[in-house]
Amino acid sequence: DVADIPAVPEWLPDHLRADGIESLYPPQAEAVDAGVTEGENLVASVPTASGKTLVATLAMLASVERGGKALYIVPLRALASEKREEFEQFEQYGLEVGVSTGNYESEGGWLATKDIVVATSEKVDSLVRNDAPWLDELTCVVSDEVHLVDDGERGPTLEVTLAKLRQLNPDLQTVALSATIGNAEALAEWLDAALVDSDWRPIELKKGVHYGQALHLEDGSQSELPVRNSEKPTAAIVRDTLEDEGSTLVFVNSRRNAEAAAGRLASTVEPHLTPDEHEQLADIADEIRDVSDTDTSDDLAEAVEGGAAFHHAGLASGHRSLVEDAFRDRLVKVVSATPTLAAGVNTPSRRVVVRDWRRYDGTAGGMQPLSVLEVHQMMGRAGRPGLDPYGEALLIANSHDELDELFERYVWADPEPVESKLAAEPALRTHILATVASGFANSREGLLEFLEGTLYASQTTERGRLERVMDDMIEYLELNEFMERDGGDLAATSLGHTVSRLYLDPMSAAEIIDGLRAWKRGDGRARADDGASAADRPAADAAAEGEEPPGFTTASDLADDGDGDEEAERPDPTAMGLYHLVARTPDMYELYLRSGDEEEYQMLAFEREAEFLGSMPSEFDPAFEDWLSALKTARMLEDWASEVDEEVVTDRYGVGPGDVRGKVETAQWLLGAAESLAGELGLGLAPAIREARVRAEHGVREELTDLAGVRSVGRKRARRLFDAGIEDRADLREADKAVVLGALRGRERTAETVLENAGHRDPSMDGVDPDDSARPDES
Ligand code: ADP
Repeated sequence: DVADIPAVPEWLPDHLRADGIESLYPPQAEAVDAGVTEGENLVASVPTASGKTLVATLAMLASVERGGKALYIVPLRALASEKREEFEQFEQYGLEVGVSTGNYESEGGWLATKDIVVATSEKVDSLVRNDAPWLDELTCVVSDEVHLVDDGERGPTLEVTLAKLRQLNPDLQTVALSATIGNAEALAEWLDAALVDSDWRPIELKKGVHYGQALHLEDGSQSELPVRNSEKPTAAIVRDTLEDEGSTLVFVNSRRNAEAAAGRLASTVEPHLTPDEHEQLADIADEIRDVSDTDTSDDLAEAVEGGAAFHHAGLASGHRSLVEDAFRDRLVKVVSATPTLAAGVNTPSRRVVVRDWRRYDGTAGGMQPLSVLEVHQMMGRAGRPGLDPYGEALLIANSHDELDELFERYVWADPEPVESKLAAEPALRTHILATVASGFANSREGLLEFLEGTLYASQTTERGRLERVMDDMIEYLELNEFMERDGGDLAATSLGHTVSRLYLDPMSAAEIIDGLRAWKRGDGRARADDGASAADRPAADAAAEGEEPPGFTTASDLADDGDGDEEAERPDPTAMGLYHLVARTPDMYELYLRSGDEEEYQMLAFEREAEFLGSMPSEFDPAFEDWLSALKTARMLEDWASEVDEEVVTDRYGVGPGDVRGKVETAQWLLGAAESLAGELGLGLAPAIREARVRAEHGVREELTDLAGVRSVGRKRARRLFDAGIEDRADLREADKAVVLGALRGRERTAETVLENAGHRDPSMDGVDPDDSARPDES
């Protein structure tokens, strides 16, 4: 019973009961027995939707009750706001909840007063690097979806961050939540934690495979599920579920497939909708169109009118929550989603269909099967406790052989063990620098000792490997002047400290520094035929070897490039050049080149060759394709910063509005970092970089940067104001209200807000007769 949980605040039992929670689920009770509310470390490896969050909540509340402070680490930003909303219900009892997802450079001082902080692992890592003082006061840290330490890209950050927090405060309670995995005990051992390893679920889950005209379930049963002639199996399953008043969640392998599937499934669902549902869905569709004016928005609205929707990371967050709410309210009957978001969407449904069990993987080459862990996590979304008798999760087979294969591979299989990916080079070069720069180690030995506290060290049977990669990376960091070695002692250089605080991959920093220096030197116009990136050589060497195209200042002339007085020699780099520079760093994920793209961007590359910082690899160099993909990203940013309509941008680059914003945010961060590096190195390019950054931030041409920076102005309104003769913030402050109102198409409230934000002497619009200046609303 919830009244028997030790060490939690006294208001909690009633609060839980009011939420419909009378007693703990068995794994939760096990966790309490293991002392999770009394400060004990715990790893809970429990199926999806089996109440892991409550385990963490109990631990955090108990810790705060003892006067402490808790940190909840989430793997995705989208989850941070979801969790914050969940924890904000405790504010009525006087707790303070904060979420930290913002810039990487800040130390988040305002979080010091919060009792519970929610943040992504990257954010926590950056807080550690920036010495956020309140981190010492943490008493409880929760790591959600800790099995993601297995993820090659983001796992190492989580792993190292947990190790650092635990080193900062040896008494820190660690609670790690994991999906069911093959080796939960390894995680428990790493974290010195008690283990709750359970298969228990609040609602029975039946896994199975659809093949031909029947469902084959894991218990050996078979039932008919006929597929009509003109129909795909997924549509047949959705229809069958609808006939039973149930909804279906369909997992597919790409955003494009998610969108296409939703469009098709809407025609399956539509005939089943009541007139009332039609009406409500039309309202939701309108709200969706209001969120943004793009193709994605239109497609989504159209699907929703038919009772279907798609869900993927390219959606604007407004879209996502509308879809999730409509699905929970059972108005939308089917959602097709990509696996990335399977973890986050708390939208259980009667049936789950895992339609695609392979996914395109560029590094492995071609289509690769999903892991058992991932497929089981998607399947775990089936069945709504208290509403359905059981959940059903289905794969789809197209042949008898495939039926057998899917049973072997997924239905009967156990999830894989998770394995640390820390020994990979990009992870180690980043974390070694950060570990030394933030003082967790100051010698080679100390570094080794720190790394011994990671999951990697506790898992590896090959001791020498970590040490070898570590030594290689120390050498790389030294070569690039980010670190200095004195005998066995290690220290970060001032540049290295900056790179670590800016949260840059050292390789990104090297690429940026190299490009900026090359620009100052005046080289880079000629194409380097050796294709070797100067980023892995020390800058001094690169300068010495610099190619010297005729007509440009020579490398030796500029060897002292620090005082910026060579500016007359070469114009400032263009926004395009700077966007390309940051787009080719490993911190910016690339837009893929589609068929036909290659030729287009190759032409663009030669046309605008003079604008790029650093040398272009030759067409025969394998690095050329990456360089072109970066050009695609760069041109997208340039379009955005030239006031091209969002809709045209998404269309032109085949991406969602969420992607445009994602790229813009990454570019903003990287350009901000480039600005700091240029300043630190005395390259004198900072103003040009700042301008490119501000243009990207607001999506405007140069002349609008000042205006667009006024809160609630934005790119479109800035242009209209400008066209009405109001050219900057100062003009706006002094502007004739009637002119502003006219430019803003008669929207009085907007005009007032804008004027107030600009610091207009008298923001009240009372004296203006709206009929005088208002034009019909056309926006
Ligand atoms: P997980 O984090 O394991 O995916 P959640 O914590 O989201 O699962 O829990 C799924 C649902 O179960 C939530 O809606 C939660 O309110 C509910 N729940 C959790 N614990 C209990 C309980 N002991 N009794 C009833 N409902 C519970």
